[in-house]
Amino acid sequence: MRLDDKTVLITGSGTGIGESTALRCAEAGATVVSTDVDADAAEATAVSIRDDDGEATSFELDVTDGDRFHEVVDEVAAERGLDVLVNNAGIGHPPSSVEDTDASVRDYVVDVNINGTWNGCHAALPVMKEQGSGSIINMASVGGMLGFPYQSVYALTKAAVINFTRAVAAEAGPAGVRANAVCPGFVDTQLTEAFFAGREDPEAAREEMIEDYPLRRLGEPEEIADCVAFLASDAASFVTGHALTADGGYSST
Ligand code: NAD
Repeated sequence: MRLDDKTVLITGSGTGIGESTALRCAEAGATVVSTDVDADAAEATAVSIRDDDGEATSFELDVTDGDRFHEVVDEVAAERGLDVLVNNAGIGHPPSSVEDTDASVRDYVVDVNINGTWNGCHAALPVMKEQGSGSIINMASVGGMLGFPYQSVYALTKAAVINFTRAVAAEAGPAGVRANAVCPGFVDTQLTEAFFAGREDPEAAREEMIEDYPLRRLGEPEEIADCVAFLASDAASFVTGHALTADGGYSST
């Protein structure tokens, strides 16, 4: 599975799944545009790629800022085109019932997870449609497919990402642009660490969760990166509008 001659822009690539995706795409031959709200983290990912003889640049990009998203995409596209956009940046929230969730928490998670993904597509689609090719990968979650208690805002946003992706696929397909979502189960990143840290006994909560996974472990960021690289590549040339579940079998039980 190769990504030679492709330019791949990834949001939230300073750490976690985004960072692993950046490294995986570079290893497959892509030129990576590493972006994050944390400029230093975005650049650190680009440096790791360049240190490994890959090609990468970085930009500070808060996905909630639609104008900035356009600026970055337009600059990248003018220089080398844009073949792949990975809308990976996303956040969780402390466990809380619907009635105990503050509207400001709801609004912020919606802004990053939904509006951030929408902003990315709004910026990239004109470029990709004009090129007559492109692949968009939106990071959703099994949390957008199943009803986890006390995670209602996350569920709201990730379900939206899944169906938004289908709409983009339907709309942009005739122009040669594909759009797919990836739905990871729990993956070992700082987001998951924060999720368990919010539990009374984090270690026990983690072990209990693992018991519900047929593979009896949580995922590694590299395993999600492989799914993204597949959807980005020409190996997935007839795959669009799909939500690829990568959850160790969790949602199948
Ligand atoms: P993470 O917290 O480890 O990393 C998220 C990255 O996004 C960080 O570098 C952070 O700086 C960046 N970021 C946060 N807000 C941003 C913003 N407004 N603009 C740009 N960048 C921003 O998270 P992760 O676990 O790697 O998750 C990545 C994606 O995968 C998210 O969309 C998340 O919802 C999804 N996901 C994660 C898991 C999991 O178990 N870790 C499971 C399912 C889905």
